[in-house]
Amino acid sequence: MRMSEEKTVKLIFLGAPGAGKGTQAELTAEKYKIPTISTGAILREAIAAGTELGKTAAGYVESGALVPDDLIVGLVSERISRPDCKNGFILDGFPRTIAQAKALDESGTEISVVIDIDVPDGKIIDRMAGRRVCASCGATFHVVHNPTGDGIHCDRCGGELTRRRDDGPEIVRQRLRTYHSETEPLVGYYEAKGTLRRIDGDGKVEDITAAVFEVVDDYLGSET
Ligand code: AMP
Repeated sequence: MRMSEEKTVKLIFLGAPGAGKGTQAELTAEKYKIPTISTGAILREAIAAGTELGKTAAGYVESGALVPDDLIVGLVSERISRPDCKNGFILDGFPRTIAQAKALDESGTEISVVIDIDVPDGKIIDRMAGRRVCASCGATFHVVHNPTGDGIHCDRCGGELTRRRDDGPEIVRQRLRTYHSETEPLVGYYEAKGTLRRIDGDGKVEDITAAVFEVVDDYLGSET
């Protein structure tokens, strides 16, 4: 068996919007010292900064649709080629279509484990209503399930907590429809490859984190 330190950990977090991918990705990134790449966060930053990417993406993001595959694929492949991804990375929110998953495969990137965080639709809309995002560092919190110390500022950087514009109930419903039609087929795609691990995401943040770490440790401890 190889030493676990030598193994790279390339993870994908799958799941509906609001399933907890972002929160779990951040905690996992911290523990395993690998970067988390959130395509949604990259797009939100680009929109806020008014870059060309942001201008193209804004209409899609704000209506709950997906940004075109070629745009996202280019952005992710550039990001994962950077030196900080040498020992692994976490993809949060990518791939979101079969075409994106195939592009990732074709780039020669070997994904270690795909973690599907499963939460029933009925819980998602309520969860989104309570979600708060740090305006400075993008960390995600929840007013009930994952509150910050004072409820107003980010526990990590002290930034101001805000609500995402696409977290309103109408857009969330559209995002869920998009998820079921475009992204959910990826569950079968990765199941067929043997890399999928399912986690029940309808519980306490710390219990879900423990389940995620168990999956990653399992991978690190396994024969290569
Ligand atoms: P998220 O923060 O992951 O919920 O993403 C917010 C929004 O960004 C989504 O509703 C999409 O409009 C867009 N987006 C994020 N990731 C992708 C992706 N991989 N492909 C296409 N659109 C994406």
